[in-house]
Amino acid sequence: MRGIKLKGYRKLTKDKEIITFDKPKYVYIPLICSNSTDVEIKIRRGSNVKIGSVIAISNKNGLPILSSVSGTVIDYEDKYAYNGEIIKTVKIENNFKEEYIEVSDIKEIDKYTKKEFISILKDFGIRGLGGADFPTYIKYDTKTSIKNLIINAVECEPYITSDYTLLKDNISEILETIDAIMTINKIHNAYLVIKKDKKKLIKKIKEVIGSYPKIKLSTVPDIYPMGWEKNIVNYVLHKNYDRLPIEVNTVVNNVSTIYSIYEALKYKKYMDSRIVTIVGDGIKKSRNVKVKIGTDLSLVLEELGYKKKELLLISGGPMMGRAIESENFTITPNVNCVLILKTTENDIPNVCMRCGKCAAICPAKLSPVLIKESINDPKELKKLNVDRCVECGLCSYICPAKIMLRNSVVQAKKNVRDAK
Ligand code: SF4
Ligand code: SF4
Repeated sequence: MRGIKLKGYRKLTKDKEIITFDKPKYVYIPLICSNSTDVEIKIRRGSNVKIGSVIAISNKNGLPILSSVSGTVIDYEDKYAYNGEIIKTVKIENNFKEEYIEVSDIKEIDKYTKKEFISILKDFGIRGLGGADFPTYIKYDTKTSIKNLIINAVECEPYITSDYTLLKDNISEILETIDAIMTINKIHNAYLVIKKDKKKLIKKIKEVIGSYPKIKLSTVPDIYPMGWEKNIVNYVLHKNYDRLPIEVNTVVNNVSTIYSIYEALKYKKYMDSRIVTIVGDGIKKSRNVKVKIGTDLSLVLEELGYKKKELLLISGGPMMGRAIESENFTITPNVNCVLILKTTENDIPNVCMRCGKCAAICPAKLSPVLIKESINDPKELKKLNVDRCVECGLCSYICPAKIMLRNSVVQAKKNVRDAK
């Protein structure tokens, strides 16, 4: 398996208490889902909304985009999103009443039918919290039989501990939910996958997992990008697939997504918040922070004592993240980390020396340097299978000339999409 051992910085946040920042005066609900801004807006300026009110529906996948606060729709506003691009958001003034759209028919969490389960995932806005922002209901709404459920708690990027913290504090709830999902969907095998070096957490999980004999704990080596779905499926099940895990009868969910499913099944709670790791040498207080979806990042940073505007902000981890130009940034469901670094001068000439290291390390078996050289030639890019890039950032990390290959490959993917 291609990968690399990276220096970890998790101790900056992993054992510190989570800070809750859930009372922003305004939220900016991002009109984006699964990297698509093709949405149908369902509210008007002046509308009163509650937590769970439908703000828009994705035309790409039908998932509702929900309000995370109760209050009044003020206007539309442009903000930076996780992909580093400016997107439209709906600005809502919070009335701090925490009013919810009413729900009914709450059952024990394993007593829902499969149809009800899929409707709950959809109606309560459950999206993958691991990065892809993919609607969770689609993974289960399939005619293919699901034989394996893999819970991804690998979190292999340096710095990020949001999944770790959530799992550490909610082991029983996570296991209960995995068990319920197995019952509802008639799944025979489930694997909770974490890295071998999480010894304390492994011990804690082993103390309770015995009550759930159908769930196995699976440990993987601490190499990057072990958390990539293809790597996990291959490591745990010894199976390969082309596009999606369901090709090998498998669903993979991030562990934080499982906790959102727990809240939706147990309390019919909408996915209105998430935990974000805010960390780096550019901020005094590195912490995991629970925030409302749509929170303006600058408010959270202020709370953590961030002042210097000239620092480098990265949405996501150092490997897969994207630089964001300012803190005028809205928290989308898939923002698991904001990295704040002291900027450094790039004094290296960036000339390729044809060492081949970028191709040798690429887990998708691509040639990043050739892709970079063909960046404006969509036909050639297709031949180079650019769409298979998982944006892991290993090519940039390994390149001795410090060429930002990942950025070029991501742009090349976009160029192919735009040429269609
Ligand atoms: S080309 Fe894509 S998948 Fe390959 S190493 Fe670079 S970022 Fe990772
Ligand atoms: S790793 Fe960097 S220097 Fe080596 S071939 Fe790739 S782009 Fe060129």
